[in-house]
Amino acid sequence: MKRTLTILSLYPSQMNVYGDRGNVLVLRRRLEWRGYRANVHELHLGETLPRDVDLVVGGGGQDRGQVAIQPDLLRHRHDLRAMAEDGTPMLLVCGLYQLFGHSLQVTDGTRLAGIGILDLETQPAPQRSIGNVSADTSDFGTLVGYENHAGATTLGPEAQPLGTVAAGQGNNGKDRTEGARRSATFGTYLHGPLLPRNPLFADHLIRVALERRFGHVELADLSHAAEQLARASGSRRR
Ligand code: GLN
Repeated sequence: MKRTLTILSLYPSQMNVYGDRGNVLVLRRRLEWRGYRANVHELHLGETLPRDVDLVVGGGGQDRGQVAIQPDLLRHRHDLRAMAEDGTPMLLVCGLYQLFGHSLQVTDGTRLAGIGILDLETQPAPQRSIGNVSADTSDFGTLVGYENHAGATTLGPEAQPLGTVAAGQGNNGKDRTEGARRSATFGTYLHGPLLPRNPLFADHLIRVALERRFGHVELADLSHAAEQLARASGSRRR
């Protein structure tokens, strides 16, 4: 039997703008190319969390999608927090990135409590941030993606930025931070979706998940030719 990882995909019906679900497909496919299997468990409103989750992935959404899922997400906050503290790798994009912080004020002024796994908060910015982004990171090279958000996110002292903005706005258009990380939990504004264009980052999430589940693993190198083309098509520099 092939060795299998369980990927938890959070609220894909509401939180899937710009094809963020592609992140799940990339994780699955890159696992399969290495001889593993992925069991993708989609979490919908009102459902219970599965056991033995190896990777957590969530995407972006409109304000109304965030308002719709927030009470259900709060219901799972203790379990998700325990998973994060236990080192389960997590990738949250845009709308769910914001909701993994302490609080979020959406554009009509409604304030939503987040689940506080990442030390950050989000307020409406004077101007929407839209366009291609590249952000330099210490561990995954330059991440490229596309942002479209009204919220401006400020990191607290317990969140490290995921990267430094080289082009685009990132968290707030002011301090040049992009995204956040704490242990193996990563948040970012980058859509695209992100992982097809940033395979080193995808493999980092996979490696952490495999090593937690199976101990030391060797990840075979894969060609990045298609990913390089995808990166080139949407990057720009200041
Ligand atoms: N509604 C949020 C904002 O505009 C998140 C948008 C998104 O996920 N793309 O800030």
